[in-house]
Amino acid sequence: MYTGLVNIDDTDALIVVDVQNDFCPGGALPVPHGDDVVDVINRISPLFSVVFATQDYHPPGHSSFTEQGGPWPVHCVQGTQGAEFHPKLDTSRFDEVIQKGTEPDTDGYSGFAGTDLADRLWARGTTRVVVAGLATDYCVRETALEAIANGLTTVVVPDAVRAVDVHAQDGAKALEAMAQAGATLATADEIDL
Ligand SMILES: [Zn+2]
Repeated sequence: MYTGLVNIDDTDALIVVDVQNDFCPGGALPVPHGDDVVDVINRISPLFSVVFATQDYHPPGHSSFTEQGGPWPVHCVQGTQGAEFHPKLDTSRFDEVIQKGTEPDTDGYSGFAGTDLADRLWARGTTRVVVAGLATDYCVRETALEAIANGLTTVVVPDAVRAVDVHAQDGAKALEAMAQAGATLATADEIDL
């Protein structure tokens, strides 16, 4: 599964998935140790000439909220502090921010769902994406799987993701599913110029 060094060039893009206050400890839908990804992402992002960030960005009353019959507590509501990126995340590295889940009825797990992320990547000449962020077993998994479906070579960084783990091992299973679908797993230390 681990394939050694991944050398980054101009055809690579980093996708930072949902590193937002509500998904970090103290937030509305905290991923255990979610904020641990911040330092790792800040360390690798300068290696990339293209960095995209996704932002879960729901209208009030979104269909994924429990009050609407969805699976999750109210989180990442547009315009709230919870929807903002973690304060220590180096957003100066972000070239483009993709807001997702902005329509009431789409879950918006994948950064590609209902967005023009694929077009924007192609426009920048990206052929390979490196995926990091939150959470391994939902938005990271769906973003990576859809990147593969869009014909992009896909790398996932296990030490730059954290899982919700609603069920034990969900995160480990998600990494396995991504690898099975064709993603390469490479640690932050294995990513270099
Ligand atoms: Zn959401």
